[in-house]
Amino acid sequence: MRSLVRTACLVGMLACIVARDAHAARKAPDRAAFVFATYVEDAYSERKAALLVDSIRRFGGSLANAPIYVAVKDMDRVPLPNLGTRDAVIVPLEADPVAGEYLLGAKVFAAAQVERLVAKHARTMLWVDPWDMFLGPPTGFELDRGTAVALRPVQVVNVGQPVGQPVDAYWSRIYRDAGLDPARIPVVEPLVDPQPIRFYVNCGIIAFRPSLGLCQEWARRFAELVKDDAYQKAACPDFRHRLFLHQAVLSGLILQRTTPGQRRWLPVGLGYPLEFHLGGKIPADKRIEDLGRVVAFFVEQYWELQPDWMTTFRIDEPLKAWLTEAQMGIHRVVDRIYREEGQCNSYLVRTAEGDVMIDPGGAASPASYLWSLAGRKPVAAILLTHGHEDHRDGIALWKGDRHIPVVAQREIVEYIRYRDRLAGFFRVRDAAHTGAPVRPKPEVPVEWPIEATELFADDHTYRLGGLTFQHVHTGGETPDTSLIWVPELKAAFLGDNFYDSFPMLYTPRGTKPRWALDYVKALERALELEPEVLLQGHGEPVIGKEFVKVRLMEYRDAIRHVHDAVVDGMNGGKDVFTLMREITLPPGSRVGQFYGRVSWSVRGIYEGYAGWFDGNAANLYDRPPTVADAELVRLAGGPEAVGRRAGKLLESGDALMALRLAEAALAAAPGDADAKALRVEALKALRARSRNGAERSWLDFAAKQ
Ligand SMILES: [Zn+2]
Repeated sequence: MRSLVRTACLVGMLACIVARDAHAARKAPDRAAFVFATYVEDAYSERKAALLVDSIRRFGGSLANAPIYVAVKDMDRVPLPNLGTRDAVIVPLEADPVAGEYLLGAKVFAAAQVERLVAKHARTMLWVDPWDMFLGPPTGFELDRGTAVALRPVQVVNVGQPVGQPVDAYWSRIYRDAGLDPARIPVVEPLVDPQPIRFYVNCGIIAFRPSLGLCQEWARRFAELVKDDAYQKAACPDFRHRLFLHQAVLSGLILQRTTPGQRRWLPVGLGYPLEFHLGGKIPADKRIEDLGRVVAFFVEQYWELQPDWMTTFRIDEPLKAWLTEAQMGIHRVVDRIYREEGQCNSYLVRTAEGDVMIDPGGAASPASYLWSLAGRKPVAAILLTHGHEDHRDGIALWKGDRHIPVVAQREIVEYIRYRDRLAGFFRVRDAAHTGAPVRPKPEVPVEWPIEATELFADDHTYRLGGLTFQHVHTGGETPDTSLIWVPELKAAFLGDNFYDSFPMLYTPRGTKPRWALDYVKALERALELEPEVLLQGHGEPVIGKEFVKVRLMEYRDAIRHVHDAVVDGMNGGKDVFTLMREITLPPGSRVGQFYGRVSWSVRGIYEGYAGWFDGNAANLYDRPPTVADAELVRLAGGPEAVGRRAGKLLESGDALMALRLAEAALAAAPGDADAKALRVEALKALRARSRNGAERSWLDFAAKQ
């Protein structure tokens, strides 16, 4: 135990076991018969895990003092502002470098790691996802001598297999690894889809007997399937199959390693899903109306998605008071700053003399949590980080009929007029980009009202109730983007100039150039302020001076690296496509690309500097490069021959070339059914391997046309 704590402290400069004195009755972790296990892999799970710990300590009854093991991934990057003050045994996660990065892979390795740590003494290890919580004593999970696991079937069929359906590639491999006869798999019934399916269990909450080593074997088999490229290609074609692979593997393993008598099925109150409760999907005889009857509650993100969720249950005091406080807690970033993430992050900052709203777009409706927290009344001021619609929505609600300052940088006016001018263009582009339906065409051009009442050029200061809100214009994602600095709270609001992902230095939705060097400047400016709280326009806050500094520097360096590589390439005579292929993030960079993409950004920077002409004289004219396609298809033997070649390319994995050939065939024979079908297949293949939301939306949009 001691060495465990030391490792944790060395790695993470974090509190490891905290507040021990306050819990004098706590059982020593190395002797306890019952332990909880969970994990943290990012700021979201960190916040949720803290709430999970609170719920156990508050409602756990005779198990309220049991040790709670939390395996933390990337302890050098994930601050523990909430969990660090809780009473939990924190261990740095040891995961396979490849399989640990796969969807929910960190969870599997966390379970294996905690199992190894407690195998000698614990009779029950209750695995619980960090976004679950307890509302009653979890004694129903305790395993007696003859039981190996206590569990529930899955809630929905999902990637499960209805009885009678042939066994697919996904499951046959899992059965083969477990030495199971696919023809003799027992049947379970999901909670929500009352349809018999082959044995498939939920692992959001599940009790294991650690001495059996099930979780360690789970991690071994999971890693094997993750690293098997042929299996991934053939059996995990989409997000869902990848997301639930861990659960499918565990189902096969449990079936192999335990007898029916060693498995105990849990009642619905020991794993009650808020999602399906809110959706009205739980069968009447299983539905729980009185929240006091729920012991283990699958909350996930549904508190945030439906802030008035409590109205759907009967909840007695004091549970209701606790939940109300807990819900406020998940929205509280630090003292005085509250956050709600809708279409953007909205922040309500409380001062001694009233509330200030920063970017109301994420709390734009009267159903919003922040709106009820503010007492359903207008605030003292509204401040905007920039003029994107998703951030400036909701001004009317938060302003009411009061004359309050609505502060924005003055470039917002031209930005809004630019969007108005191109409303017909963006109507379709916005829809394709986000997957939302195309907005109806207005009869007459509409001018969006300028709702800001105070427009500044370089900077602006607003003071209220002892807090200072300094607006500093930087540019970046939009020409008006400004950071907001509250020195008393050491909090920097960066709008969309900082994401968990590389920025959209070019967005396929269509944009004027977004200057990489403006982002760099904005990040430099933020670094100079030495913030302790970093609040972004989308995604989780970063808390802790060192963590903020590391993230800001890493982000700045990534953008500057890409920018400089484009400039070098341009000066070296390289064309834009070569640079799109060649330029990557700096070695070791941990910035993701699920939002902005480096390759799009490379082209955005290149063409931002050089404009559209690529230096090829053939492109000086009013015909596109594809003008010769139809002619070439005819010379190549016609659309059928080209289609055959496209099919071959698709099979060999070159979906992009297949797409180009299918489009060429369509240029020669518009409407050709085979070419159309091929085109859709190629788009789907590109989509299956995409990890970028905007790219997927555009591929879907193209397939629908
Ligand atoms: Zn935004």
